[in-house]
Amino acid sequence: MSVVVVSNRVARAKTDEPIAGGLASALIPVVKESGAIWVGSSGHGDAAQMRESFAKIEALGKGALATVDLPAKHYRGYYEGFANSALWPALHSRPDLIQVTADEYASYREVNAFMARALLRFNGPDATFWVQDYHFLTLGAELRRLRVGRPIGFFLHTPWAERSTIAAVPHHADLVSAMLGYDLIGFQTDDDRRNFEDYLHYEFGMSAVDGAVASAYGLTRLATFPIGIDVDEFASRATKAVTRADVARLRASLQGAKLALGVDRLDYSKGLPNRIRAFDRMLDLQPELKRGVALLQVAVPSRGNIRAYRELKADLAALVGEVNGRHGEVDWIPIRYLNKGFAQSTLAGFYRVAHVGLVTPLHDGMNLVAKEYVAAQNPFDPGVLVLSSFAGAAKELDAALLVNPHDIDGMARQTASAFAMRLEERRERWQTLVAKLRRSSVQNWFASFLHALTETRHAPPRLAASRNGAAPILVDIGGTARTAQGY
Ligand code: UDP
Repeated sequence: MSVVVVSNRVARAKTDEPIAGGLASALIPVVKESGAIWVGSSGHGDAAQMRESFAKIEALGKGALATVDLPAKHYRGYYEGFANSALWPALHSRPDLIQVTADEYASYREVNAFMARALLRFNGPDATFWVQDYHFLTLGAELRRLRVGRPIGFFLHTPWAERSTIAAVPHHADLVSAMLGYDLIGFQTDDDRRNFEDYLHYEFGMSAVDGAVASAYGLTRLATFPIGIDVDEFASRATKAVTRADVARLRASLQGAKLALGVDRLDYSKGLPNRIRAFDRMLDLQPELKRGVALLQVAVPSRGNIRAYRELKADLAALVGEVNGRHGEVDWIPIRYLNKGFAQSTLAGFYRVAHVGLVTPLHDGMNLVAKEYVAAQNPFDPGVLVLSSFAGAAKELDAALLVNPHDIDGMARQTASAFAMRLEERRERWQTLVAKLRRSSVQNWFASFLHALTETRHAPPRLAASRNGAAPILVDIGGTARTAQGY
């Protein structure tokens, strides 16, 4: 089997640079070990739109990275427009932030169609395509239109929101019906998968039977594959990181104070203002903690061309300044706020130094940062993870201190409890958490998705469907005509 992984951007495994997000940090090790080809945008548009050829193919461990110049004319509408100003807010349950035009949707479809044509060069007799994330919801349908008959899977790294929220996305029916061009659609959590099934049921009158739905394309299997990390690899990075300059300076600067740490892209899904408010509230409720604790918030700038992100950055800077101004002293500042990223080899050391890890999104896909924080702890003296119950990771990591990120007082109390937690309880919780992490490593995620994709192919041959067709219709599967309630 020759595995072709497709995502918007590829990432090079440079050890001294930050990684641009969870998708990249998950794919780097598995592409390196498996020999897959990882295809994505070069990040440069091809202004002339003449070329579909790959800008560059380079090795990544046993695998390879192939980058393609996407059409410059459509890139903004596709990326900043439809993908990140319509899909991203809806998928993270923020339909109020949707801001999109019909042209941007057309650009999204164009870029998906363009990528499908570019992928034809990899359509060998043993090819298996695995498409990643919300940038390419319609890529499977485009490949089918080009008569690609090989297995095509899709994994969504973000949540899939409730039906009524998805229905707020312009052209939602068109998009979701195109998603049924995939043989297998993978989700981070069972809630996401159920929300997708609800959407199909209420919008299209389709029901999943034995985890699959039938459409004009054939069968699409729906399943949950929580993404993981390589625990031992991360733990070993954390041990080695103590000697790194930034880590040593951080530790020395604490002068015995306890540190809480947040590491996030600057994104409204991450719940950063509420986290700062909760830290503020904790200092109001327990002023005796002042000087004894500090918060280091790494907030890596993201999608700065989009207004909602620029506004968040300005609001957060003002909030941190206000809280520091109110609680700070000449020789103590409660919040250290940084707008830059760090290499994982340094982050691992920050995680290990931190007594408390704060991962408090309003709604998020998985939050690998939560898993990394746990993996990086000293088993004899582990820190405490404070985790939002709306993080994808909360389903597995329920031995963390779970918080409601909308409840500022509750978060303030739980953060204070995390700082005060006794060693015995910290160890107990950490052992439970790390045992869970071992059960869902990133290698398991990769292998189990591909195994399920191969299995799904025992289904009947798939049919091409019209690109902008109406909602899919059920077809005759196995010789018996079926109703809209199943197959
Ligand atoms: N990350 C990094 N450097 C930073 C901040 C984050 O390398 O300064 C990595 C982090 O280690 C993690 C990923 O970026 O692997 C973030 O993934 P997560 O799932 O937590 O969030 P996402 O950014 O995908 O929404």
